[in-house]
Amino acid sequence: MRISYSSLEAFQKCPLKFKFSEIDDIGEPKGKEAVFGNYLHEILKWFYEKDPHFPDMEKLLDYYYRHWSKNDFSWNGNGEEKDYFQEGLRILESFYKNNLPAQSSILDLETKFEVVIEEKEKNGKKHILSGIIDRIDKLPDGRIEIIDYKTGKRIASQKEADNNLQLSLYALAVKNRWPKISLKNISLSLYFLKFNEKIETKRTEEDLLITEEKIIELIHKIQKSKFEPKPSPLCRWCGYQNICPVWRHLFENNDENNYNSVNIEEKIDEYFLLESRKEEIENKLNELKNFIEAYISQTGLKRVFGKNGYFSQITEEKISFNKEKIRDVLSPLGKWEEVIEINAQKIKKIIREIPPESREEIEKAKKIEKIYDTFLITNGNKKDLEEELEE
Ligand code: SF4
Repeated sequence: MRISYSSLEAFQKCPLKFKFSEIDDIGEPKGKEAVFGNYLHEILKWFYEKDPHFPDMEKLLDYYYRHWSKNDFSWNGNGEEKDYFQEGLRILESFYKNNLPAQSSILDLETKFEVVIEEKEKNGKKHILSGIIDRIDKLPDGRIEIIDYKTGKRIASQKEADNNLQLSLYALAVKNRWPKISLKNISLSLYFLKFNEKIETKRTEEDLLITEEKIIELIHKIQKSKFEPKPSPLCRWCGYQNICPVWRHLFENNDENNYNSVNIEEKIDEYFLLESRKEEIENKLNELKNFIEAYISQTGLKRVFGKNGYFSQITEEKISFNKEKIRDVLSPLGKWEEVIEINAQKIKKIIREIPPESREEIEKAKKIEKIYDTFLITNGNKKDLEEELEE
């Protein structure tokens, strides 16, 4: 399989998004954050191309200003463009102050790479992974630094950087390009432009082997995938909302929603109206039940009658068994396996408390017996949801 890192990442975030982009070949309209992020990448590329004669801050900001006006920030109209422009200005000023004069020299910018990954267990079946590294520097002490710019609103933790698959893949790419460089001399950095913070990490030979395994595992998942949607807060930035079955309904007009003359919106609203009354009715039922039960206890009666039914008091036992003793009896009869049941909910709970290696083993032992559709009902305002997507 030939695949780019960004596609692999898209699959992890949402298999359906991957399908829209990679299989159905539907171009994704870029959101504001993505346009802004690309723009900052372009400015920084221009700036570092000038190495070692870096433009001063004035020239950098001048280029930013001139280049901005050439860009199509067509989502202008409500002051947002001005906010983004100011934010870019702030980011670049702070970036310049923190990084200049440059201590390192630039080896490459926006470098395209390809890494071949071989499946050892499948007669050497090969996969080609491609990607683009934002910046490769040579540090004064001779080490190589790989820098990936991030423009997101959240900064990663050190642990996240240590486990970041993208950086691991970059380490593989650099090892391919300069095989003589020791991994100890390759520094991998995520540069969070909004915070002007850089988080550095490294990889070992063992990490790279694990990376290859993870990538092969992901490729296998893609090959077997049914490309189901995976709704998450990331949907907000997904350009496929209007064709995605999770959100498409919000974009359709009312006439299209009337399948077989059914106004589904009305039906859903009716459901929630009844649902809200259900709570009121349940409270009243509980109140009556408590009252009748108290009456039975106080009078010593075992059964009390109304016109439409009756209430009875029944004495029951709560039973538990001594697990060891039951096992001793049932095991020799070959019946023990029938009474112990591995419960998926319990495993889900326990999995958070056990070490990562054991978690992986449990994942491997998991087998999907059946895939079925189920329905989840969420009480929420349609307007709020629409606004959430637009934010
Ligand atoms: S909107 Fe969300 S669920 Fe739908 S394709 Fe995009 S990321 Fe996936």
